[in-house]
Amino acid sequence: MQSKLRVYNTLNRELEEFQPLHPPFVGMYVCGPTVYSEVHIGNVRTFTSFDLIYRYLLHLGYKVRYVRNITDVGHLLDDTSEDKISKKARLENIEPMEVVQRYTVDFHNTMATFNALPPSIEPTATGHLIEQIEFIQKIMDQGLAYESNGSVYFDVKKYSESENYGALSGRNVDELLANTRSLDGQTDKRHPADFALWKKAEPQHIMKWNSPWSLGFPGWHLECSVMSTKYLGKQFDIHGGGMDLKFPHHECEIAQNKAGLQEDSVKYWLHTNMLTFNGRKMAKSEGTGVTPKQMLTGDHDLLTQAYDAMTIRFFMLQAHYRSTLDFSNEALQAAEKGLKRLLIAIDDLNNLSASDSSSLNVAEMREKLYGAMNDDFNSPIAIAHLFEVVKWVNLIKEGKESLTSEDLDTLKSIVNHFVFDIFGLKDEQSGGDDNKVDDLMQFILEIRQDAKAEKNYNLSDQIRDRLNDIGFTIKDGKEGTTYTVS
Ligand code: AMP
Ligand code: ZN
Repeated sequence: MQSKLRVYNTLNRELEEFQPLHPPFVGMYVCGPTVYSEVHIGNVRTFTSFDLIYRYLLHLGYKVRYVRNITDVGHLLDDTSEDKISKKARLENIEPMEVVQRYTVDFHNTMATFNALPPSIEPTATGHLIEQIEFIQKIMDQGLAYESNGSVYFDVKKYSESENYGALSGRNVDELLANTRSLDGQTDKRHPADFALWKKAEPQHIMKWNSPWSLGFPGWHLECSVMSTKYLGKQFDIHGGGMDLKFPHHECEIAQNKAGLQEDSVKYWLHTNMLTFNGRKMAKSEGTGVTPKQMLTGDHDLLTQAYDAMTIRFFMLQAHYRSTLDFSNEALQAAEKGLKRLLIAIDDLNNLSASDSSSLNVAEMREKLYGAMNDDFNSPIAIAHLFEVVKWVNLIKEGKESLTSEDLDTLKSIVNHFVFDIFGLKDEQSGGDDNKVDDLMQFILEIRQDAKAEKNYNLSDQIRDRLNDIGFTIKDGKEGTTYTVS
């Protein structure tokens, strides 16, 4: 293969050749969901993008340890309001951990529906409280955090005397420090740009733990510093998340790691762009937060029909992960058609007959496909090349082009790798559960046919009645036995 993988590092704003710290091992950390509600399809886009990246790295032969956390301590949007997990627990009169369990299970089911591979480790914030407290202590030992009234804050002003706080998100630290807005309710902080590492809990706060400073809870940014370095080391290869996490979340992570570990921990920062609706970020608060279940059933005002998970996945892969992707029924319908065409062509490709010579250049096609993915995981370009293959297949079928059996085998193998292993698509028509049910029913009907042939009418009637109870109506006709599902 000629081209080498290059990734866009959002820290340097440059495409860089991908050189893992300890090849063939790759450590990748992705910020996971806060489990207080169902994820929306925008969140799914981000996790699908990292699934593509994970799958491609695996395909290239890397041994990837993929860590994606579960945030099961609620974030505070500001220092006074109630966090989202506790709020949900209070409204539903259940334990916060019931909220967490419900939406963690739901998140796993959703990602499985979209055929995303599970991460290698999925650590939770509440499972790492001791490590978080120790990490705070390390930062305090460096004089870069201070306790104030039971809470502990990161001292951004002091840190930025020697470090470049704001480098990732392109913010100017002087402007951040000059910003004296909204100190109300935050009087514990020395400066508004400081952020919480530990918060003392108000009496009504439900999720709280003991610490050297107070009965309280950790700040949001801390868990990712702690869990990424615990499982991937003080320095690791890839850290990812949605663009909206660059500031403050990832900026704060960089500062924490530098302060606590004296390391620039992350080699490549990767950020996915947003799923938008009419050009604006899809968000629940805007009424545009369509959930995966709503997409699969069509039950949302923005939807004119239901879409299956592979159509949605294909729709997402048709945009580069760093570009915005605008949500529309037209685009989804086009994806539905496109995916069908692609899958039909793969079926046809598997049944093509070989010729003595090749009129098409398979080696070049292979280079083009890898070239696209090596160019910062450019799936839309790779898909465009796959549609060239679709044209090839049709031309070969019509006898206008030809491939030798060796070329045909190579092409089949590349296309199958790209579509199924790397893009993670599934051909639900040929391998789905419906087909399995049909195979099973044919098998049962054969047994019933044998019973009838042996005049064992007791058994054949019993099979018919039992199937009827389950919801399958059996009809014996001239053409043989058929069934319908009620
Ligand atoms: P959250 O649970 O809010 O932390 O979000 C989980 C992930 O989804 C984060 O990486 C976010 O950046 C990402 N995300 C949130 N909204 C969108 C969106 N509209 N499009 C794509 N990714 C999103
Ligand atoms: Zn994070």
